[in-house]
Amino acid sequence: MTVENLVIIGSGPAGYTAAIYAARANLKPLMFEGFQAGGIPGGQLMTTTEVENFPGFPEGITGPKLMERMKEQAERWGTQCYTEDVISVDLSQRPFTIRSTDREVKANSIIIATGATAKRLGLPSESQFWSNGISACAICDGATPIFREENLAVIGGGDSAAEEAVYLTKYGSHVHLLIRGEAMRASKAMQDRVLNNPKVTVHFHTQALDVFGTGSKMEGLRIKNSQTGEIRELAVRGLFYAIGHTPNTSLFQGQLELDEVGYVKVKPGTVATSVEGVFAAGDVQDHEYRQAITAAGTGCMAALLAERWLSEHNLIQEYRQSATSEHYETKTVSETPADTEETFDINKTRHVGGYALRKLFHDGDRLLMVKYVSPTCGPCKTLKPILDKVVDEYDGKIYFVEIDIEADPEIAKMGQVTGTPTVQFFKDRELVKEMRGVKQKSDFRQVIESYQ
Ligand SMILES: Cc1cc2nc3c(=O)[nH]c(=O)nc-3n(C[C@H](O)[C@H](O)[C@H](O)COP(=O)(O)OP(=O)(O)OC[C@H]3O[C@@H](n4cnc5c(N)ncnc54)[C@H](O)[C@@H]3O)c2cc1C
Repeated sequence: MTVENLVIIGSGPAGYTAAIYAARANLKPLMFEGFQAGGIPGGQLMTTTEVENFPGFPEGITGPKLMERMKEQAERWGTQCYTEDVISVDLSQRPFTIRSTDREVKANSIIIATGATAKRLGLPSESQFWSNGISACAICDGATPIFREENLAVIGGGDSAAEEAVYLTKYGSHVHLLIRGEAMRASKAMQDRVLNNPKVTVHFHTQALDVFGTGSKMEGLRIKNSQTGEIRELAVRGLFYAIGHTPNTSLFQGQLELDEVGYVKVKPGTVATSVEGVFAAGDVQDHEYRQAITAAGTGCMAALLAERWLSEHNLIQEYRQSATSEHYETKTVSETPADTEETFDINKTRHVGGYALRKLFHDGDRLLMVKYVSPTCGPCKTLKPILDKVVDEYDGKIYFVEIDIEADPEIAKMGQVTGTPTVQFFKDRELVKEMRGVKQKSDFRQVIESYQ
């Protein structure tokens, strides 16, 4: 069995930066980007809009675009990426063993860059309204029709909560920001943006007790003022959690030293863990700064230390760069315009927009697959290559329509779409299946096969 020089687990800014450095050093790193465990490929920035503080982008850049560029750079220099979750590691024997959902690999060194996951409150009725009123990502779900011109609530007192509250004022009629204590933890600049926004009301000393609604429609929150003890109802159609993160380290429990909260312990001033040859970068080892640039910085440190460690132990197997790596051309992606009366062709498999959807719904005779996306949704970008592959496999046998819910809000409303990405399947004008979020190719294939 081949022994890899370096396996990187996680594909946020820490993982991709480590991959760029290691690949440039001819180590040909292998990366497990993750799929569903502990976030999504590309990491936390896939769930944000503008990143204004990452150096090199004076005009700002969206989180998903930044991550797409980092991935492209890592792959350009030979990083081998697998969009799979790692399910176990064995650090007790060398070479180390890393097992994903699809394969097992051996490696002489490892960089852990598994980041952190948004916390949930665990309210009694949370599961009933999850993804149907409650969300942990305002940036992904805020634009969906159920939240438009509605009262909304955000829970949390840090920068994420402040950013989400302000962002949601674009869609909701009013936003209530619920804070447990007497002050916000957000930076002064973020606090000013919230407190000066007439569409945001900040409720201090306020705790959510539960959500309520009719059927699956969320209608409000029961809240308690911890100073007065008063319990009352707040009529809101949406609730967004922004209450912090848990480090994604369950894989490593008992294998290396973690702190009391679960962050990977590193030697002060370095990114070396308690196991030689294993390094940790980004939010998984940082509960203080938690920024894309610090994650990238520690990713760089981890790759340099891994290379040094491999070299000192005479373990490096060097790979030469390919000619294509040296001569790189920027990839340009052209967007497909929506179908119109003039351009619509019922014989084609792929379509875009509301016009095509209406025509295919009424006149089409194949299984109809509708993908709802929004422009700022990172998970939508993750789903794209997965679904593109499946649609290609069934060319001529199904119809596929992409709906941008910002461009076609009425269609999204009719489809009762509550978040993006969502994929619906229609057979003979009946909705037969709905799938929310990012799923595996095999899940989509299974639905297509069962309804063809
Ligand atoms: C809404 C929001 C807005 C933000 N805005 C900014 C900003 O403007 N500027 C800024 O600097 N920072 C911002 N941040 C913080 C920034 O996103 C994080 O600090 C940064 O993403 C941390 O990078 P990371 O690489 O450590 O981990 P993450 O980005 O958390 O990535 C972790 C990766 O590990 C993978 N993973 C987890 N478990 C497994 C497993 N078992 N197997 C395989 N892979 C796994 C995940 O799929 C993911 O790819 C924001 C964060 C949020 C949530």
